Amino acid sequence: MQELTHWINGEHVKGTSGRFSDVMNPATGEVQARVPLATPAEMDVAVAKAAEAQVAWGNTNPQRRARVMMAFGALINKHMDELAELVSREHGKTLPDGRGDVQRGLEVIEVCMGGPALLKGEFTDDGGPGIDLYSMRQPLGVVAGITPFNFPAMIPLWKMGPALTCGNAMILKPSERCPSTALRLAELLKEAGLPDGVLQVVNGDKEAVDAILDNETVQAVGFVGSTPIAQYIYGRACSNGKRAQCFGGAKNHMIIMPDADLDKAADALVGAGFGAAGERCMAISVAVPVGEKTADALVERLVPRIEKLKVGPYTAGNDVDYGPVITAQSKERILSLINSGVEQGAELVVDGRGFSLQGYENGYFVGPSFFDRATPDMDIYKQEIFGPVLTQVRANSYEEALKLTMDNEYGNGTAIFTADGDTARDFAHRVNVGMVGINFPIPVPLSYHTFGGWKKSAFGDLNQYGPDAFRFYTKTKTVTARWFSGIKDGGEFAFKAME
Ligand code: NAD
Repeated sequence: MQELTHWINGEHVKGTSGRFSDVMNPATGEVQARVPLATPAEMDVAVAKAAEAQVAWGNTNPQRRARVMMAFGALINKHMDELAELVSREHGKTLPDGRGDVQRGLEVIEVCMGGPALLKGEFTDDGGPGIDLYSMRQPLGVVAGITPFNFPAMIPLWKMGPALTCGNAMILKPSERCPSTALRLAELLKEAGLPDGVLQVVNGDKEAVDAILDNETVQAVGFVGSTPIAQYIYGRACSNGKRAQCFGGAKNHMIIMPDADLDKAADALVGAGFGAAGERCMAISVAVPVGEKTADALVERLVPRIEKLKVGPYTAGNDVDYGPVITAQSKERILSLINSGVEQGAELVVDGRGFSLQGYENGYFVGPSFFDRATPDMDIYKQEIFGPVLTQVRANSYEEALKLTMDNEYGNGTAIFTADGDTARDFAHRVNVGMVGINFPIPVPLSYHTFGGWKKSAFGDLNQYGPDAFRFYTKTKTVTARWFSGIKDGGEFAFKAME
């Protein structure tokens, strides 16, 4: 069996803890590799080496750092299919989706190629007699990225791109369920010219994360994962004096107005609800049609589309719409939530519980499920299911649909489908959610904007990637300089007589 490593000082390093986590093939339920789980001592060594390497990297001019990103981007493109396969092999998502995972990360690297423009300082000329002020953005030192299983390429790239371009060294702690892509990206970064030690990939679980949080050298922590862990990491990192931005879970609502193009809305709901088996923080998990007629007409369109979905392993190529969920526990949890929905009185219109695939009986596949007439007190509404389950909550009016979305504890993404600009504009303006789609189901902003939710979907004040990331990964130093009037007023050339 393959034994994975850490990536320290530009090379693969075996774990010494004796503790490992199994990396599963979610399509077959077989163990395909094991990943070492670092001890606090291993973490501390990686951080110390990163701190040494950061000094020269931080003093490398920003354009040269950006050139490493240029070469890195070219290498990601060159190895796109290989990286996508690596993502799909451990995560289980389809190959086109694996490619999307790499692509949306690559787009952040493309912005980093122009990073120097975002690192420019500010200047005030003549703030007082002979006085100028200037601010510079300087790297923090060693920073850490802690990432989830569901985007093994994209989210590590969102973290490492801006952090390294800003001149920091980074400790990346990828998900122990899908660690291989991060290790491969580290190899490519070395090939692109990143000096050894500037990016350390340290694998591990809570023990490794806590070692990051308690290490005094680590200046900032960027986390992405579930809300309880985001909240925990945010609290501990902040109380240890670190800068932190921690992105959490979601329950994204899509409002469907009576004037919406219902065929387009149904297509969008199926893609956004079931793509990647619902394992996306921007998945639409709640459909909110306005009015009984809209709801009935939507159900009529959704059911045949959902029943047609093809579920299978990524090795089936373009022939599958989504793959297995990540673990046996995750599958069990999803099935028990579906059971709870039935017990609590929602109408299970499409039942994916009995799904089984010949030859893959031990895989973690869950068929698509669709609930109608769910209510906000039910567990299927309250919890982030993170599986292929779409829940419909009917609303009587636009205001009721808006209130439902706003009362939800999460605020990552939301969407509205309507033909009316006034309604769309009102929604975008009033809703308390960080990313809004208008006739657009998964509104992940482009890489030169920023990504971040509101409410329990994010802790901290700056978003990921784009200009916010360049603020998060640098600190401002402001210099006030006064130069006294001197030689320009004229030297005294005359041989003065003594007075
Ligand atoms: P998770 O919270 O279980 O794990 C995320 C990371 O935290 C992993 O690296 C893991 O090793 C570490 N971790 C887990 N338990 C820990 C603990 N007790 N103490 C310290 N560290 C711990 O999340 P996941 O299951 O890998 O990912 C799915 C979740 O991530 C979903 O809730 C999803 O909505 C969320 N997510 C959010 C965003 C976003 O940008 N808001 C993006 C992607 C995923």
